Amino acid sequence: MPNDPVPSLLSRATELLEAEFAALPPFQSVQDPAAMAQVLEETAHRLGDNYPYFHPLYAGQMLKPPHPLARAAYALAMNLNPNNHARDGGRASSEMEIEAVREIAGIFGWTEYLGHLTSSGTLANLEALWVAGQLAPGKRIVGSEQAHYTHRRISAVLKIDYAEISADNRGRMNIEALETELRNGDVGTVVVTLGTTATGSVDPLDQILKLSKRHGFRVHVDGAYGGYFRLISESLDEPARQAYAAAGEADSIVIDPHKHGLQPYGCGCVLFRDPAVGRFYKHDSPYTYFTSKQLHLGEISLECSRAGASAVALWATQKLLPLKPGGTFARGLAQGRAAALELDRRLRDDARFQPLAAGAPELDIVVWKLAARTSEQSSDLAQKTFAACAARDLHLALVQLPVTWFQPVGSGVNGSEAGLVTCLRSVLMKPEHEEWLDRIWERWIAACAEVLEM
Ligand SMILES: *Cc1c(COP(=O)(O)O)cnc(C)c1O
Repeated sequence: MPNDPVPSLLSRATELLEAEFAALPPFQSVQDPAAMAQVLEETAHRLGDNYPYFHPLYAGQMLKPPHPLARAAYALAMNLNPNNHARDGGRASSEMEIEAVREIAGIFGWTEYLGHLTSSGTLANLEALWVAGQLAPGKRIVGSEQAHYTHRRISAVLKIDYAEISADNRGRMNIEALETELRNGDVGTVVVTLGTTATGSVDPLDQILKLSKRHGFRVHVDGAYGGYFRLISESLDEPARQAYAAAGEADSIVIDPHKHGLQPYGCGCVLFRDPAVGRFYKHDSPYTYFTSKQLHLGEISLECSRAGASAVALWATQKLLPLKPGGTFARGLAQGRAAALELDRRLRDDARFQPLAAGAPELDIVVWKLAARTSEQSSDLAQKTFAACAARDLHLALVQLPVTWFQPVGSGVNGSEAGLVTCLRSVLMKPEHEEWLDRIWERWIAACAEVLEM
């Protein structure tokens, strides 16, 4: 990868880390460098069978390369391979986790809370819903039909009934449909997605919180993908801006540093507004180490072993790029969003393409269909242009969405055609995407010229 700073950063830091343990007698571990080098060469070849996720021309799925500093810090921590289950397994990295999580909680204005890192957003959501279920026994969980598919599965694991609330033509939870559901009186928790995975849509959290005051349900925010946009919420369009502004009033929040937070995989985060929910985690493991009187992370986590290296990478990244509105990290989010808005604008200017009828992207995900007489033809064109882009090293994604979302409101076409249509989807989550938009657009237009003139 071009001028990768990681090897040289790492060699200097590794020397320093070794010096920390210089007092120990040296020892030899059994290794065969020649054999390892050979296997690693083969590994490099095998890894070539991947999309180039690190490159700005990869503009498909929700994949953001980890920051070079995160990679270096992670690799540095691998010299010790700490385990953040307990302080004995990862004394320094547990402290770093606590500090890093405090800064994430700060995005939402929380100073008193319970929170920790997890292996993923799914695990983080599992913990939040596990706690929610215990606080509202016998009651249901509901989320929008555009909520992440794992909420239904998590609820099944927890043996809690789960129901879907319909979404509007923008992919946001339909508030009237939620109110109807609430009339049954058996909703214990509403999952509110700030940034849906398919379209980056923002559920109306502020309105849902008002309903929760009246109906007494718990509000869980799934910001696995979109949580960080709170840092630039002032620049978002209404109603997303208001939804983000209300995020601090939620009962629990999930945010994935490995989605938008520049981290390697294996880094989710769950936060609870009320630290007292820690009582649900109480366990009495005979294996756990008890050298510390302080609460250790294994006592507030469903998982046992967890990569301390994830915490180290996150801590280092946040040192370099503090989570502050107006900071470099926040500017990176804004750059991706600017790229998304510009792509959407160009698509709207060309009659061959149909972006969401309801308006511009709320965050940094653009979806659009190709104009055609039928949904089938449109889906077929999406498949073909997707492949023609890939042949030009431009990697987009495909997504199935309701065809009505693309029909002009009040056009009379509404409802004439039901069902799903295959669309193009582009997650423009790299800061570099802004600078690369012209080159992305050129390739897209060339791919379309080839497919549409066939
Ligand atoms: C990605 C995502 C998840 C799942 O998180 P993982 O880290 O992939 O397990 C949950 N919710 C939303 C909104 C997501 O985008």
